[in-house]
Amino acid sequence: MIDAHIHIFPPYRSVKAVRWLKRYIQGLRVEETVNETQILKLLQDSGISHFFNYVYPIKQEESRPLNEYNYHLSKRVKNAVCFGSLHPDNEDRKDILEEALIGYGLLGIKFHPFVQGFSVLDPRLDEIYVSLEKMERPLVIHTGFDRFYKATIRVEEVETILKRHPDLVMVIAHMFYPEVRRAFQLLKQYPNVYLDGTNLFSDYQEGIEGENIFEGVCDAVNGNPKYRISCLAFRDELEQYSDRILLGSDYPVAMNDPEKIYAYMNAIPLSNGAKSDLLWGTAQRFVEKYNPNFFQEC
Ligand SMILES: [Zn+2]
Repeated sequence: MIDAHIHIFPPYRSVKAVRWLKRYIQGLRVEETVNETQILKLLQDSGISHFFNYVYPIKQEESRPLNEYNYHLSKRVKNAVCFGSLHPDNEDRKDILEEALIGYGLLGIKFHPFVQGFSVLDPRLDEIYVSLEKMERPLVIHTGFDRFYKATIRVEEVETILKRHPDLVMVIAHMFYPEVRRAFQLLKQYPNVYLDGTNLFSDYQEGIEGENIFEGVCDAVNGNPKYRISCLAFRDELEQYSDRILLGSDYPVAMNDPEKIYAYMNAIPLSNGAKSDLLWGTAQRFVEKYNPNFFQEC
């Protein structure tokens, strides 16, 4: 299995991120101090052969060090597909982009506009989208879970980028949850769009007395009503477009304990072809588009 959404961060960021998530999801077994060695062991024990690792700067001065961190990770951990990032406040953002993709050989760029605090239509990002398009490297954008983040990325904003940059390959992480239908509309309309279903396959559940900040849908689980997050309402689309859908866990900031997430991902009731796409085929072909020898070298 390939986990196409992991966050091995330097400890100063990882501790805060896990602490923050555990305020909202009590009972998660992950520790704030979880480190790279422990994460790698968990992935290996869970049958994860390769994974994508995402970092992103909250402040502009973190951009270069985080990219360098992910570069070193990619050298140390041969089965990690590492991405870079930057911040619109970086004045030398084009240099940072080139250093990340060419100098460090990172696969693409990840943005988390909610946590990083910017709009995807910030005009300072135009040159980045143009460069990614020219360099034929993918952009991964966090979308969805607006209630939790108290922020919004509208589908129209993302579509504006796609219209302006028809050759840009974009991965829409979390599929605008709960506006999943809109994510599938973009997938159907734009051939360079991929969806990343991370968190939608977490089988996250919350009692109906809760606040439902993750916008689950009321569902009966073993006879008990729960707010639940599931993508199975879109089985037909998953089947039809499995060659452009990636799955991951978000560990160590996953919405559920990883063994439950992987069990859920494995049990998706789809054809063997679609399932093998979701669990590894699509991610493998995605990586090979940009780094044809990756799977031979690791
Ligand atoms: Zn994530």
